[in-house]
Amino acid sequence: MTFEELGLKSEVLKSLKELGFEAPTPIQQKAIPHLLKEDSDFVGLAQTGTGKTAAFGLPLINNIDNNARAPQGLVICPTRELCLQIAKDLEIFAKYTNVKIVAVYGGTDIRRQITDIKRGVSIIVATPGRLMDLIDRKAVSLSEVNYVVLDEADEMLNMGFKEDIDSILETTPDYKNVWLFSATMPAEVARIAKNYMDNPLEVSIGHKNQSNENIDHIYYVVKERDRYAAVKRLIDFNPDIYGLIFCRTRQETASVADKLAKEGYNAEPLHGDLSQAQRDRVMDRFRQKDLQVLVATDVAARGLDIDNITHVINYNLPDDIENYTHRSGRTARAGRKGESLVLINTREAGKIRAIERQMRTTFTLGTIPNATEICEIQLMKLIEKVIATEVKEADIEPFMPKVREALEGLTKEEVIKQFVSAEFNRFINYYEKAADLNAQAGKGDRDDREERGPRRERRNDGQELGKTRFFVNLGKRDGLNPGGLLRLVCDATGLTSSNIGKIDLMPSFSFFEADDEYAEKILRKVNGANYEGNTVSIEVTKKKTSSNRGGGGGGGYRDGGSFGGKFKSDRNKKEGGFGDRPRKEHRKGQGSKPRTFGKSFGK
Ligand code: AMP
Repeated sequence: MTFEELGLKSEVLKSLKELGFEAPTPIQQKAIPHLLKEDSDFVGLAQTGTGKTAAFGLPLINNIDNNARAPQGLVICPTRELCLQIAKDLEIFAKYTNVKIVAVYGGTDIRRQITDIKRGVSIIVATPGRLMDLIDRKAVSLSEVNYVVLDEADEMLNMGFKEDIDSILETTPDYKNVWLFSATMPAEVARIAKNYMDNPLEVSIGHKNQSNENIDHIYYVVKERDRYAAVKRLIDFNPDIYGLIFCRTRQETASVADKLAKEGYNAEPLHGDLSQAQRDRVMDRFRQKDLQVLVATDVAARGLDIDNITHVINYNLPDDIENYTHRSGRTARAGRKGESLVLINTREAGKIRAIERQMRTTFTLGTIPNATEICEIQLMKLIEKVIATEVKEADIEPFMPKVREALEGLTKEEVIKQFVSAEFNRFINYYEKAADLNAQAGKGDRDDREERGPRRERRNDGQELGKTRFFVNLGKRDGLNPGGLLRLVCDATGLTSSNIGKIDLMPSFSFFEADDEYAEKILRKVNGANYEGNTVSIEVTKKKTSSNRGGGGGGGYRDGGSFGGKFKSDRNKKEGGFGDRPRKEHRKGQGSKPRTFGKSFGK
């Protein structure tokens, strides 16, 4: 099937040609002809990577009347990153039309967005919080909106945007069409579909809750204490990896990324403790492939839509199976293949079965590669690189007589062996005594236990370190729910949900935790705020002792000594990585360049 056959107009087809889109993807084939019709409520169950942005974006742009002044199309999505990405895609599709697109999202100057809207806009792409703000300020009117797209509806509900979405939709006309996209179909999403749509066409790419068929799901059973060493082997075994490692907590994310970086891997963390500017910088570096491995929490990685990710590594499994769908869906986008690798300890096999049942997919049991396998892969990578190296005849010629003289007496075979060994001995030495990291499910290790919920450092009184606990005067009876509380705090303060910790709702009051550094701001901004007609009052529950984290704790991974020395003495105790030694060399004036000799990323 071709795009022409789907019924799109020539201006839109022209931009597709320029983009190089040759044939519509399955979701596009099914959605576009339906969405081009006048009455077209629609539910699309599709992951990112299936081409869903074009599935709604092309008919949206096709159908918009260029002469109208007020916005006719509205796309609501959960995160600022996704908002920018969608707006960028729509602008490209609309290149040969007069359709104007404006992105509105939090965390930036609202005045500029207001000016952009005033200039005239056909399609608004928005995150719910900022759009609500604009509606409250009467800076935007949605009374002529014909098409509302709810993208990643399940994520928006997870993030507590249900009420905002309801309020936004109330300001749109009854006759509008609603197009909903979601990777999964929990009951709340089904409810939205029921409330806002008339007999929608439902299209599912794959089964409901099933993941993309191009993803190979592989799990590895290791002892709890070997998790980190196993991750390194998986990276070493895939020298061309462009991967996302998921951890469950910010602390774990920071710690894994820090250890990898210190061992010379080209890795950085992405989590809620970073400022927006820091997160943007890390995401940009990852997008540019300047970073090979990104270690992220589920929350921070939301909206990070990047093609070509080769591997998703689950450092451990998320509690929520739907999060696994989201994690694994980061790879195998746009028809490509990808691998989702999962590390479990000996007591966690049940979790794999649960995911298999829910996603109707099968996992294969993988084997953590051994020393020989890794050395072979890395050696061949080196050889490939040598073969691909450009020989600058003129530049090297002056040196060649001396080189030839030095190598005189060695046969070709001997020269090859010497060069290979010079590069390679360090890896062979490193992996010489590397243990077999594969364990057997069910054959427990004392340290192994099924992880339930993020393991967070807690004080004696149960409160998480680094967090302040607040009392709130409203509870379930006042209509408060976790999403509502989250929105209340985030809207009043400008913080994001990742800054907020545990929430405990009681019938007539509640508690929540938030990062210490925001405590003062939260007290100032949330006190006196309004929640559904009630005035909110909050206070800090306990006077905090100094946040003297882990005084007697184990401390760092690095002893400050040289890598080489530490490496040798520690080799049997703690597994290092291929990164160790090259990094030491890179330090000599090369900055923090990526690690292996076989690296293929960065400039
Ligand atoms: P999405 O699911 O919208 O995030 O799209 C995933 C990726 O697939 C994006 O990079 C799109 O540009 C690309 N894409 C979408 N539709 C097509 C198509 N018909 N042909 C080729 N690439 C596409």
